[in-house]
Amino acid sequence: MNLRGRKVLVVGLARTGLATVKFLKERGAIVSTSEVKPKEEMKEVAQALAEMSVSMEWGGHTLDHFLRQDLIILSPGVDPSLEAVQKALDRSIPVISELELAYRFIKVPLIAITGTNGKTTTSLLIGEMLKEGEKRVGVGGNVGEPLILFADGKSQWEILVVEVSSFQLEGIDTFRPRCSILLNITEDHLDRYPRYEDYIEAKIRIFKNQTPEDIAILNRDDPIVMRYAQKIKPETFFFSLKERVEKGSFYNGEDIFLRLGGKEEIYSLKESPLKGIHNVENMMAAVIAARWFGSSSEAIQRVIDQFKGLEHRLEFVREIEGVFYYNDSKGTNVGSVVKSLQSFQNPVILIAGGKDKKTDLAPLREWIKGRVRRMILIGEAKERMASELGGLTDTVLAETMEEAVVLAHRTARRGEVVLLSPACSSFDMFKDYRERGEVFKKAVLRL
Ligand code: ADP
Repeated sequence: MNLRGRKVLVVGLARTGLATVKFLKERGAIVSTSEVKPKEEMKEVAQALAEMSVSMEWGGHTLDHFLRQDLIILSPGVDPSLEAVQKALDRSIPVISELELAYRFIKVPLIAITGTNGKTTTSLLIGEMLKEGEKRVGVGGNVGEPLILFADGKSQWEILVVEVSSFQLEGIDTFRPRCSILLNITEDHLDRYPRYEDYIEAKIRIFKNQTPEDIAILNRDDPIVMRYAQKIKPETFFFSLKERVEKGSFYNGEDIFLRLGGKEEIYSLKESPLKGIHNVENMMAAVIAARWFGSSSEAIQRVIDQFKGLEHRLEFVREIEGVFYYNDSKGTNVGSVVKSLQSFQNPVILIAGGKDKKTDLAPLREWIKGRVRRMILIGEAKERMASELGGLTDTVLAETMEEAVVLAHRTARRGEVVLLSPACSSFDMFKDYRERGEVFKKAVLRL
């Protein structure tokens, strides 16, 4: 791909956007940028760009600016349905994601991971398993470094692991991972995708350019994922909590079994610090990938025994008089909350709510009825959640996270779990899910 002298626009200027600008400048492109936030909110980026003599547009996207380009690159958080992007496409101006741009310069095999939930955890697990297996592995995308930083041609890596979102997959053209992983598909982002089908189709694009020499790792228990299993070209491996699969991995309630290349191996979860049934799924997917790419079974077992999981994902905070407090602030959609509730045998006091993503709440009903003794709702979505789910258990509304935590503490009984798992994004009350999780943890530590 020759970029010299071409007019290239980078849309979205967070960490990845800035790295993309640098990459393009080094290759002689004439770079300009467009960012929806005002300049005052991004002073450091503006300063860095000014030093690179890049033309900038702040506080919105103007059509003129887009239509003057030879190529448009979308950063990971940018919605491809933006009007200016669509108009540029109408004029046959190529629009690609940063993922596609980076891919064109990357020479080593890629393991790409997508799904509604578990991407970050699984990416890191695979990264650790390959590292422990003495592979020179880089982890990029949403976790680790922006992928474009691995595209410099000087790379010392043998394999790259990349977490990919549906927005990025919409902007691919030739992107072809050696191994694709589709963890699950449940409703999410209906605030961005007008139709659930569009969201599903974006995820499925991960297989678009794969051939029979490549592999795909799929969740056998997920009906939507399985709709596509027969239709894709790569060799397929499955993981399942329910069935003993022929090729791939499964779970017998205690250990993970791996069937690969005609052999069967067993991985013990006895020492695993990771909580939650969904993490068994993530580990099953990771074991297939890591072993297929050549890590030893001993190396993989060592990572299973040590991997502690990430902050804000079913993170244990504290025990107070027999009540266990967990922070699952990253549980930002219905599917992830269902999994988190499934992970506890004891009654749960659930703190949920936040910015409404307008998705169907029905999958929560069974679990709220069976496992949640009290629900405390916060944020913009609290009224809708109360009217659709409130009848299933004792439900109260709170104005702040601190109030919710105090309300939970007052009624919690010995042996119960207090769980923050919102099923919503955080932007109505917090900067992001991290801040929400921190506020929850602080409130719990003050009790
Ligand atoms: P992602 O990067 O896809 O957002 P994370 O690993 O950050 O995924 O986990 C996000 C949330 O989803 C966490 O709250 C976690 O409890 C839940 N989760 C993790 N893995 C899975 C899975 N395989 N299936 C369903 N939910 C999951």
